[in-house]
Amino acid sequence: MKTKYYYHIVTFGCQMNVHESEKLASICEKMGYALTENREDADLIIFNTCAIREGAEDRVFGNIGALKRMKKQNKDLIIAVCGCMTQKQQTADYMIKTFPFVDIVIGTFNLANFESYVEAVKHARLVKQKSRQLDLWNEGEIDESVPYLRTSGENAWVNIMQGCNNFCTYCIVPYVRGREKSRKKENILSEIREIVASGKYKKITLLGQNVNSYGKDLSPQVSFAQLLKEICAIEGDFKVWFMTSHPKDLTDEVIEVIAKEDKILKDIHLPAQSGNNRILTLMNRRYTREKYLGIIEKIRQLMPNCRITSDFIVGFPTETEEEFQDTFNLVKQVKFDSIFAFMYSPREGTVAAKMEGQIADEVKNRRVNELLNLEKKIQKEEGKK
Ligand code: SF4
Repeated sequence: MKTKYYYHIVTFGCQMNVHESEKLASICEKMGYALTENREDADLIIFNTCAIREGAEDRVFGNIGALKRMKKQNKDLIIAVCGCMTQKQQTADYMIKTFPFVDIVIGTFNLANFESYVEAVKHARLVKQKSRQLDLWNEGEIDESVPYLRTSGENAWVNIMQGCNNFCTYCIVPYVRGREKSRKKENILSEIREIVASGKYKKITLLGQNVNSYGKDLSPQVSFAQLLKEICAIEGDFKVWFMTSHPKDLTDEVIEVIAKEDKILKDIHLPAQSGNNRILTLMNRRYTREKYLGIIEKIRQLMPNCRITSDFIVGFPTETEEEFQDTFNLVKQVKFDSIFAFMYSPREGTVAAKMEGQIADEVKNRRVNELLNLEKKIQKEEGKK
């Protein structure tokens, strides 16, 4: 008889997913499972999925499909799929139909109940009943009950909010993660006090799809600047960083707090996405090129050595050559420390996917390479300085 049971988690996508896998790991360990890096040894396999890009979804499907053989060899194996892909009705339906050997399919809002799904599968198998557990969309309060099993070395992730209200026209996140919900300030502060008191972590990274709009949904409201100030007032040797910022919500007050507080890393990731106002409007980003450049100026005035990085999407539907040049020139002007440049790829279910004037792949490819070559050139020149 087996005395030791193992779990194995495969995480796709962003830091939010990495952090949520830390919650799943904590639940698995509480149930008595031990971690294994080897999928073949696992009794419980969890896929924490990402829906941002179609390629990521295809990879997940490929990975799940490959488990069929393992399930045939080991009837006791439990396979669970969660994360953003399961929040998309069509994708979830496809997954449930195509992979009948997957035992648990749950949405991002149901992770805290993970133990009960696993127990339900085990019990149903014992009494020879249908054991499949499906619990998908269920937008609720942020769970504060399950601790995290932190796995990122000296960095501790701290989720401060979830969801997004922005509906950028290319993005699936608001559809799969729901509306913005902020955690109570007291809960965040007490989690950080515990992290600092443990003495294990040198860096605390605050996570949210749009951290700058933290606290707008709380009553009374709390600003992100206020939260940062109170975090920095916690005694101890640690640094604070955060992601992701939205330019429309990054206030002067937040920039001033970053400049003033020694504990906050002078490192801001501020996705611009485009340098052209018509494209920014089509993307529903709700700021202009001028406003973006104004923010950069303010950051550089107060913190001349602040590292600034950004994201860009090239080849958004109807983007002309001149409009791409506006993006190119913005990168040239700002001289970012680093950029991530992506070719636009349509996500089913978003507004932009239905737009006319989709750009050919070879054009997108050329534009993305032009931008990345420019980045390399800038880094070389700045390095020389
Ligand atoms: S701000 Fe825009 S890009 Fe970011 S998560 Fe929200 S909708 Fe997506």
